[in-house]
Amino acid sequence: MFSITIWGTRGSIACPGQYTNEFGGNTTCLEVRADGNVCCVDFGTGVRPFGEYLEEHDLPAGLTHINFFITHTHWDHIIGFPMFKPVFIKGMKIDIYSTYMPNGKSLKGLLRNELSYEYWPVNLRELNADIRFHQVREETLRFPGGLRVITHYLNHPAPDLGYRFEYGGKSIVVIHDSEPFFNQFLPFSKGGRASFFDIDASREAAKAAEEGNAKIISFMKAADIVVYDAQYTEEEYKTEKLNWGHSSYQCAAQNSIAAGVKHLLLNHHDPSRSDSELLAYEKKLKKEYGSQINIDMAREGASFNL
Ligand SMILES: [Zn+2]
Ligand SMILES: [Zn+2]
Repeated sequence: MFSITIWGTRGSIACPGQYTNEFGGNTTCLEVRADGNVCCVDFGTGVRPFGEYLEEHDLPAGLTHINFFITHTHWDHIIGFPMFKPVFIKGMKIDIYSTYMPNGKSLKGLLRNELSYEYWPVNLRELNADIRFHQVREETLRFPGGLRVITHYLNHPAPDLGYRFEYGGKSIVVIHDSEPFFNQFLPFSKGGRASFFDIDASREAAKAAEEGNAKIISFMKAADIVVYDAQYTEEEYKTEKLNWGHSSYQCAAQNSIAAGVKHLLLNHHDPSRSDSELLAYEKKLKKEYGSQINIDMAREGASFNL
């Protein structure tokens, strides 16, 4: 069995309520299973119901090990950690993979802060599970049964990894959170006045951006399922959200089509986006791209088997 279940679909902040019933209000959390391996990408607030599901179904059946793969340490991706019930269970092994941070900081250090008494009633050292932290860069991680997890850096204001799960000839890729690379060294400012970036530096930057985007497409190559950060419409992105670290629906679709992806799930919905808005956009995107790719907005609770 190789599957993905979506426990959290939102970016930025949880937004439960009558307008988010269909697509969900929890922040990002994606369960990936490859036979005996129970994995999860990010522990946003969706990790709480995931933990309750495990408690009801898997723990009684003898589950003792879970792997977490953390894309990055922004709140919407880590804040659910202390509400994940298995962290309180003695004998439970939890391996947490994340990348290196600036100034020697680490996910473990940030969680230690998050779980200090100023913010939370239970400290990290008081959790009963055997929690092990691993820092990784771009590499291939190997797990029992032939599961491989490949990592790739993404463009975001915090060090951030995309994850590619490969098992039994199939693949699931998570691109969270990610903005397309673009030329930061434009030779002219918006007002038309010359900036201090010279033309050669600008050309180099344009080339670097192009290569960065091509590498992400290659990382997703022929994936069966891709879950892609698509927080904005193309118009929102270009007019208000440049440099905020996220992609548009159109960017996610075009990159996935270029990579030959079979099924694209657009995720990390903006918290202000209601069910009716997401439904309308989904319809529009299906009309625009549906002949080239199977494309859906991610819905909390949806599960896909490969
Ligand atoms: Zn996010
Ligand atoms: Zn982020």
